[in-house]
Amino acid sequence: MPVKEEMKKVKVHQATVEKTDWTQVKIGVEDWPHLLEKDGTFLKLDKKCQEEVYAADLRRLQKKKSVRGDSSLVSLAPILDEDGLLRLGGRSSKAKLPYEVLHPPIIPGSHPLASTIAKACHEKFTHAGTDFVLAQLRQVVWVTRGRSVVKKIRLSCLQCMKERSKPGIQLMADLPACRLDYESPAFTQTSVDCFGPFECETSRNRTKKVWGCLFTCLVTRALYVTTVESISTEDFLLALRQLVAIYGRPKRLWLDNGTNFVGAERELRE
Ligand SMILES: [Zn+2]
Repeated sequence: MPVKEEMKKVKVHQATVEKTDWTQVKIGVEDWPHLLEKDGTFLKLDKKCQEEVYAADLRRLQKKKSVRGDSSLVSLAPILDEDGLLRLGGRSSKAKLPYEVLHPPIIPGSHPLASTIAKACHEKFTHAGTDFVLAQLRQVVWVTRGRSVVKKIRLSCLQCMKERSKPGIQLMADLPACRLDYESPAFTQTSVDCFGPFECETSRNRTKKVWGCLFTCLVTRALYVTTVESISTEDFLLALRQLVAIYGRPKRLWLDNGTNFVGAERELRE
């Protein structure tokens, strides 16, 4: 065929492909079941997208030729189905899986339709990670450079941005002087609190309640933990005597307004 005539045919073919405004194509989460079923509307969109991007490859496959060696689709070994749709090839044709799963339609990653479907998939699967979304997306279509398409969606998603963001760091005030009394022995500056009660086994089939009494050195953060049999003033004073016997008398004792502590303070002052 003379070159001029061939060019004419190409021009006529280009004129017959009607342009689609892809910004008007909306695919939401609610459309996901239709995408999974691969109903007619979705396949029509897919076909239009392929005609825009893979026109040369389509023509070669329609003529029963394989795609050119320098085509971007060569590694996907594309096949043409009876509706003229480009599908993923591969070596798994004999696997006992549905045709749709083995040979999903191919969509170029650079096309707006790929981003629209990937976004719907991302939202359908509750903003999950890249690998999971990509696996779900591949059940519907084979997007070329799919991982980077999904990553791009995740990077621009407001909810994902919020989930990825690091929590703010609280600016702490200066430490009080008692926390920096590093020249004194441990437990010179001490704070104390009680916790519990706990069931404690004293003998076979016999238990009693005990409370923990936790002393902490404000400078070294050393701990001294002992148990008391009640949260009474007397028992707390016994625990304090233990601490004094081992580590010496604290210069200052920091505690909350627990009744046992208040009672102990009163008793020590008297
Ligand atoms: Zn997201």
